[in-house]
Amino acid sequence: MVSINTSNRLSIHEKEVTDTMQLTESQLNVRESVRRLAAERIAPQAKTVDEAAAFPWENFRLLGEHGLFGLHIPVSYGGKGFDLLCSSLAVEEIAAVCASTSVLLCTQALVTYTLLLGGSEGQKRRFLPPLAQGKVPGAFGVTEASAGSDVSNTQTTAEKTESGYVLNGRKVFITNAGEAGIYIILTRTSEHRTRGLSLFVVEQGTPGLSFGEKDEWMGMRGSVTREVILENVWVPHDHLIGNEGEGFQTIMNVFNRTRTLVGAQGVGIARGAFEYVLRYLQERKQFGTSLSDFQMIQGTLADLAMQIEASRLLVHQASQKIDAKAQGVEMYASMAKCHATDTAMKVTTEAVQLMGAYGYSRKNPVERMMRDAKVTQIYDGTNQIQRLIIARQLLRQ
Ligand SMILES: Cc1cc2nc3c(=O)[nH]c(=O)nc-3n(C[C@H](O)[C@H](O)[C@H](O)COP(=O)(O)OP(=O)(O)OC[C@H]3O[C@@H](n4cnc5c(N)ncnc54)[C@H](O)[C@@H]3O)c2cc1C
Repeated sequence: MVSINTSNRLSIHEKEVTDTMQLTESQLNVRESVRRLAAERIAPQAKTVDEAAAFPWENFRLLGEHGLFGLHIPVSYGGKGFDLLCSSLAVEEIAAVCASTSVLLCTQALVTYTLLLGGSEGQKRRFLPPLAQGKVPGAFGVTEASAGSDVSNTQTTAEKTESGYVLNGRKVFITNAGEAGIYIILTRTSEHRTRGLSLFVVEQGTPGLSFGEKDEWMGMRGSVTREVILENVWVPHDHLIGNEGEGFQTIMNVFNRTRTLVGAQGVGIARGAFEYVLRYLQERKQFGTSLSDFQMIQGTLADLAMQIEASRLLVHQASQKIDAKAQGVEMYASMAKCHATDTAMKVTTEAVQLMGAYGYSRKNPVERMMRDAKVTQIYDGTNQIQRLIIARQLLRQ
């Protein structure tokens, strides 16, 4: 086995073209401190987190202690009062060393952005602080067996009664289910395919709320998903998020933010694999010279580096447009998600190839990164759906 000297080498950080994007001082500080946390505390555990295939509570608490769930949440609700770009920077840094741990940030953002964008003042004050400070994990329940890409086919119902709402249905593949304290659940409150959908908060321990077995996945094994089962789950009226019928619009607005974060996750996974393979190729000798001396390999490295930089720029652009409350952000969020996660798949697959048997080995991290990359092309809306969104917006103009 070739041993890789990771010290005394220029890292890709020092070559980052996107440093010229003029990040603010607080954004640079966030990136620097999360990069250190990732290197010192998260990276050494990444292999164990993958192999344990359980919810990584230790890492969840660590991210909470460092305020990373609350970066985009106002101080008045227990957050740090920064912006989406700060959260994107944090997700990239964590994903570069442990993609499963970065899912914790993306999933918490699905829940906190739902409350920020659709919740009442009372809901924000009550539910955001524990989520922002990492006291409890959240879960976001949209997908059903017959409502995957087609969210408008949601079958879970919420029936209004005098005292509250009664929820019935089943949600599948829900990240953090069984571990979370706060659940966002998309339900049907009337017939209309999209304007009949409504969101609710359901708290852990509510009678009638239960969970299926832990799902088994190819990658992201440190991220736990289960079925969420709702059998006559009663919640008070004030657990409805916004008004009846606003659920679909709210989750689309949430997805603009979280798809951007999944894009950041793609950039991070790609960068992690690229940095590793870059060092490896300089150390591994064949035919009497370093692999990195071969032009064919140099061409591949250049292609991969270009795609990573382009992906990061798309993620930063989408983040900045959303932070600036620009119009038409859907297309930019979808471009960031789609390009960056396709890049993660491409870079990790090439990284395995460039390392030969050593890349395919479980002793090195790139095979894990390749397995982790795959699902980023699937969740938060598949990349085919992102392409549909981009094309629809282009054709509307
Ligand atoms: C690890 C993991 C974690 C997840 N976490 C959550 C979570 O926390 N909360 C949650 O609600 N969901 C979650 N999901 C579900 C995820 O969001 C869905 O799997 C995803 O939206 C796709 O739905 P589907 O799997 O039913 O695929 P389908 O919708 O059945 O799609 C199958 C294939 O057909 C393609 N396709 C579908 N429609 C079209 C179309 N119109 N044009 C072209 N191609 C199309 C898709 O792109 C895909 O390739 C998670 C999934 C995974 C794997």
